[in-house]
This record gives sequence, C-alpha cells and structure tokens, in this order.
Amino acid sequence: MLWVHIYKGAMMFRHNAWMANVAYYTGVVALIAALISHPYMLGYSFVLYLMAAVTLSVGYHRLFCHGAFKTSRFWHYTFATFGVLFMYSSPLQWVVTHATHHKHSDTSLDPHEGPLKPASMLRKGYRDVPLKTILAKRLLRDKMHLFVDRYYALLWLVMATVIFAASPQVFVYCYLPAVGAAHLVAALHQTFSHTGNKPNDLWMLEYIFPSAGEWLHGYHHKNWQSWKFSTQWYHFDMGSWVVRAIRRKDQNAVKYV
Ligand SMILES: [Zn+2]
Ligand SMILES: [Zn+2]
Repeated sequence: MLWVHIYKGAMMFRHNAWMANVAYYTGVVALIAALISHPYMLGYSFVLYLMAAVTLSVGYHRLFCHGAFKTSRFWHYTFATFGVLFMYSSPLQWVVTHATHHKHSDTSLDPHEGPLKPASMLRKGYRDVPLKTILAKRLLRDKMHLFVDRYYALLWLVMATVIFAASPQVFVYCYLPAVGAAHLVAALHQTFSHTGNKPNDLWMLEYIFPSAGEWLHGYHHKNWQSWKFSTQWYHFDMGSWVVRAIRRKDQNAVKYV
C-alpha cells in the first residue's frame, strides 16, 4: 500500500540530519543578506543567537543528553521548544547522535568523523545515526520527548509561520541569520573540536565564536557528567552561569536517570 511506504519514508526522513542542513544553508545565505542590506537587525539577531547557543549547550547537551543537572519541568519544555525553533531537530535525535559521538569518538563510527566537505564549507562529513533508542532511554520515558520527536517538523513550521506572519523582515533578517550563525558555529565546532584523533580545549575560540561553553570540549569528554565545562577563571562558560541560575534540587526538579 502506497500510504505505508509514504509513512515509512516519512519516519526515516524524521531521523536524519535534514533540518540541520536546511538551517545551515538557508541561515548562512540569510546572514550574508542581512550583513549587506539590514546590518542594524543583527544586534537583535545576536541575542537570538546567544539563546540558540544556550539552548544547545545547556538544554540539549548538558540536560537532555548527559543529565548533568536537575531543573524544573518548565525548563525542559522551554529547551525542547527553543531547540526546535532553532532547528536542532528533536532532542531525542540530537541525544542519540551525541551519545554515539561520545561512545565512538575519533573512530570510523563517530558521526562527526570524515573529510571536510567543500560544499559545506568547513563542515566535516556528517553521518546520520539510526535511532538507537537505548542511547536515549532516559528521554523515552518522557511523553514530551516522544511528542516532540514525532512532530518536530510540524512544530517548527507552526512557529516559523507565526514569526513570518508577524514580520517577514524579522523572519528573514533577524531570525534566519541567528539560525545560520548558530549552525555555522556548530559546523566549525564539529570540524575543530576533534583533531589528531583527540578532543580539544579551544577556550580562546569561545571569545570569538561564543557557543555557551562548547569549545571547552576536551575537558567535557573526560568529565561528561559535569554541568560545568570551565576550570580556569579565564574560561568563558556562559552555559554554566545559566545552569547555576536554573538548577533545582527540590522535589519539582526533573532529571532522567
Ligand atoms: Zn567530542
Ligand atoms: Zn557531550
């Protein structure tokens, strides 16, 4: 039956890196367009960019993937919503990919391994990771994550339509450049965070391409359960400031274990 094939195709499509690729190419084009024609919009765009960086580092990475701290339900919903808005795909898919990266880093099974692709500028080859649910079993107990994983493309479409309807100019010259910058820095991170078969601590790049602390990557590989990536006063780890502000230890705190 045709609809079965369509459904199976859609389910396969759901779990690959399509959204990040669309975000990367479209966003970078919008970023260049904004630089040329609406540079004054980029101040607002930078605020959105920082929100995207925090969403990825604090929400998707430290909270959803590594369960490094506990926080209230509100922040779980907030990070899942913003993660989809900034086109990082569903938390479930991101967590599976990132957990696979930790498990197989610097081997041929690493999803970030591979040659630099000229078509993607500095981005390394990126392999889609099959949804090995065992790597995300904590998230599978949560109905919110199952819902977001199933409908993330639709959720993004609704949010994007609302922004576009409110102001096409904000959508093209403010929102899309922020998405582009976030995915461009993610591509740079993917390329340089591991070289010579080992993870690197490139703390100085945090001041040039702020990623809420993600450039402190070598330390993170050794201490993946820690919510703090910085070890020196001059390490710029914005993500850890956010964790400090939102973590909770009371009975309302939620963490997947
Ligand atoms: Zn790594
Ligand atoms: Zn990690």
